[in-house]
Amino acid sequence: ENRCNGDGKESFKPPEIKFTKLFVNGQFVDSVSGKTFETVNPATGEVIAKVAEGVEADIDLAVKAAREAFDHGRWPRMSGFERGRIMSKFADLIEQNIEELAALDSVDAGKLLASGKTVDIPHCLHILRYYAGAADKIHGETLKLAGEYQGYTLLEPIGVVGHIIPWNYPSTMFLMKSSPALAAGCTMVIKPAEQTPLSALFYAHLAKQAGIPDGVINVVNGFGPTAGAALCSHMNVDAISFTGSTETGRLVMEAAAKSNLKTVSLELGGKSPLIIFDDADVDMAGEICVAGSRVYVQEGIYDEFVRKAAESAKSWVVGDPFDPNVQQGPQVDKTQFERVLSYIELGKTEGATLLTGGTRCGDKGYYIEPTIFTDVKEEMRIAQEEIFGPVMSLMKFKTIEEAIEKANATRYGLAAGIVTKDLNTANRVTRSVRAGTIWINCYFAFDPGCPFGGYKMSGFGRDLGMHAINKYLQVKSVVTPLHSSPW
Ligand code: ADP
Repeated sequence: ENRCNGDGKESFKPPEIKFTKLFVNGQFVDSVSGKTFETVNPATGEVIAKVAEGVEADIDLAVKAAREAFDHGRWPRMSGFERGRIMSKFADLIEQNIEELAALDSVDAGKLLASGKTVDIPHCLHILRYYAGAADKIHGETLKLAGEYQGYTLLEPIGVVGHIIPWNYPSTMFLMKSSPALAAGCTMVIKPAEQTPLSALFYAHLAKQAGIPDGVINVVNGFGPTAGAALCSHMNVDAISFTGSTETGRLVMEAAAKSNLKTVSLELGGKSPLIIFDDADVDMAGEICVAGSRVYVQEGIYDEFVRKAAESAKSWVVGDPFDPNVQQGPQVDKTQFERVLSYIELGKTEGATLLTGGTRCGDKGYYIEPTIFTDVKEEMRIAQEEIFGPVMSLMKFKTIEEAIEKANATRYGLAAGIVTKDLNTANRVTRSVRAGTIWINCYFAFDPGCPFGGYKMSGFGRDLGMHAINKYLQVKSVVTPLHSSPW
């Protein structure tokens, strides 16, 4: 029996929950209504804490604070160098609190504690430091104009930004959205996911300690249709940067269009293909494919690959995210858990073959066995829709043309992976697949310098890299005659 079998060597140490209010204008405050909501530990199904619930009135106060900090405050007016120094200090404080931050994401989101400490939060630090270093390298261009004129562009911060983020990577999302906006000189209101409200409040506290002025970062926890929607419709918000589902992304864009035409960038769902060619090292491909949801394997190695994938899924250790031996924690909440299980049922009724897994594991918490389907067809919903759980579909292909066609047979275009030793194959697939990121002989490799975002219905705009800063900037053209005024 290999299910939920972490041996619990590192005994569960719940982190102290220090911050549960909203963070507005540099202060922790109750919601205007005094209402709260419960946040639940997905490993046990038990309530961790009650958190202040923000709605429209709270968003309004937070936007006021951000507006004031933008229109009259120091942050947009200080030099990029100075902003970068404060951001570096913020990073140092995060580093000093890494254990506690990782533990908060474990208890709140079911993230593995060990990878939080060694991968996720270090990645967050890397992101913040990347943008701290970028803050004094934002500049416009000198324009060559016809006639007796000269021109240049000024890149100015866009203003008050609303960040709406999901539950899958609470820390990474917080820093991936806030860091480039901070570097640009913007002020912001962050709406964390209702499933994972805790670490964001800790980051806000550390930002204040680092010297980020009051009102620059505000955090309003609450639900999407109330707090999130109010942010998207707000007349004093200049830009929204959203990560979440495609359905919600559509609502975000609608709200922006119906209010003040604020700019929108959307990082939405994906159903990323991983294409494994006959010449691949099957063991390497097996390691890479753990994160794949739609895996295409060329016919020559298909049977061997299926066998190895089943073995590796069976030896996968599912259990308590605080246990260092565990490889897979619980789903984030009951809704997601039930959603993933219903997709597994759907796969069976659609006629796919359940190779391994397929049920919950344990009787407490929201754990699901690593699940693999074979004989999956492109038109099946399990091959088309984002499942967001440990469910993989394995499919066979013959030729490179077929692989490209199948990889593109989706409304999404977030990312794709290719495993091959043949450079020509890799190059050809890279240029033919319509997706924002292509991983060759690796998968899920992220770096702050590497832009991330979607084609097609996976959205538009890019997070990370220098591209992300552009979302938070306005371009102002300045034109002046070279000699005396022509008028
Ligand atoms: P998921 O299904 O992965 O939870 P969502 O797109 O529903 O994805 O959620 C991502 C983020 O969007 C969350 O912070 C959520 O509260 C927020 N959200 C949900 N509905 C809306 C909405 N109508 N307007 C703005 N934000 C929303």
